[in-house]
Amino acid sequence: MMKRVIIVGGGYAGANLARLLDKLAEVCVVEARDHFVHNVAAIRSVVDPSLLARIVIPYDRLLRRGRVRQGIVSSAFDGGVTLADGATIEGDIVIVATGSHYARPFKPTLHGTRAFEDSVKAAHASLLAADRVAIVGGGAVGVELAGEIASAHPRKRVTLVSGAPALMPGYSAKLAGSLEAQLRAKGVDIHLGTRVESLDATDSPYLGTLSSTPDAAEDQLIFPALGARPITAVFRRMPTASFDAQGRVAVDAWLRPAGARRLFALGDAAATGDPMTIVAITRQVPWLAKIIAATLAGESPQSLPAYVPWSSRGILVPLGPRDGASVLPVTRHGLLVGKWPTALIKGRELFIPRYRKEFGYSGQFA
Ligand SMILES: Cc1cc2nc3c(=O)[nH]c(=O)nc-3n(C[C@H](O)[C@H](O)[C@H](O)COP(=O)(O)OP(=O)(O)OC[C@H]3O[C@@H](n4cnc5c(N)ncnc54)[C@H](O)[C@@H]3O)c2cc1C
Repeated sequence: MMKRVIIVGGGYAGANLARLLDKLAEVCVVEARDHFVHNVAAIRSVVDPSLLARIVIPYDRLLRRGRVRQGIVSSAFDGGVTLADGATIEGDIVIVATGSHYARPFKPTLHGTRAFEDSVKAAHASLLAADRVAIVGGGAVGVELAGEIASAHPRKRVTLVSGAPALMPGYSAKLAGSLEAQLRAKGVDIHLGTRVESLDATDSPYLGTLSSTPDAAEDQLIFPALGARPITAVFRRMPTASFDAQGRVAVDAWLRPAGARRLFALGDAAATGDPMTIVAITRQVPWLAKIIAATLAGESPQSLPAYVPWSSRGILVPLGPRDGASVLPVTRHGLLVGKWPTALIKGRELFIPRYRKEFGYSGQFA
């Protein structure tokens, strides 16, 4: 009989791993949401909500043999998972890839994707009505959003505020410098090292004032873009689990949390040594698929090579469809590339055709 693999979370990590294992095992993905959302393109959806029809993708064609079951997992253990409705699913191997939250309108909550679509449409309507926009947060989401808005609406006044001394904290100074120069050339007003003391909301855009910028008294559309928060409720029910400063669950060298033997964690929820990116997941998933294949064949994970994170932090940061800069993790320190390669690899299409294809929907609005 085929062994069963349970994957908690059908986001970028869980869905990709499920596809790789579909031929090898009976795969059951338990996913809270009704659809996959390609959140990479959620940023541009704020200026072009017509993208929504292509980035909210059903799960029904993801797997040929296995299945995606909608439900919320409340606990996971060596040998299975328990769902919030009390059901238990047993499995030989369990992978928990519960990912992270982000402020609206950039990622859906666990409760369905309709509210996500509504939040994108509402943000778009507010954007059309606003003359001034302020983005709080100078990481990838804030920087990309500033680039998208400034490219699509060159007459709006766009301000980007960050408490950090440079854009893109954690990434190379050259990447930050290139993005800053391009944003300034698009007319974006950038305030670095500027802490915003009080935001009316940190989880959704709102109309208000921002005391730390010039024209402080004027109303503007404020987008909080303060970073991802790992979703770790499942791990918090494991008595010996521990967490890093970002709240990601600590794992051993084979990505197993809390002393587990055949339970793995990956993606944004796990302290893998990589940043919380899909770029990181493209390294973790093929590695874990090999470990699981060997484990299913009777080997113990410890007898196999441990996980080694990327040595350089790769990231692709478009500023609208034509501009941007990226670090490709192809050399030890990463290779900085500019507008054209960034547009070609990501900026033009935002990987939408690729993810539609992975989910079996190529051809339709591809
Ligand atoms: C707007 C935006 C743009 C981004 N762009 C890029 C980019 O261009 N490049 C890049 O490398 N990274 C990008 N990122 C980061 C990237 O989205 C994350 O690294 C990625 O989503 C992590 O994948 P994951 O599978 O670990 O988690 P997620 O994609 O968050 O998926 C986790 C899944 O688990 C489900 N889940 C959670 N808890 C439970 C539970 N208890 N039971 C059942 N299901 C559960 C969730 O519903 C979700 O579907 C972006 C992030 C944002 C917010």
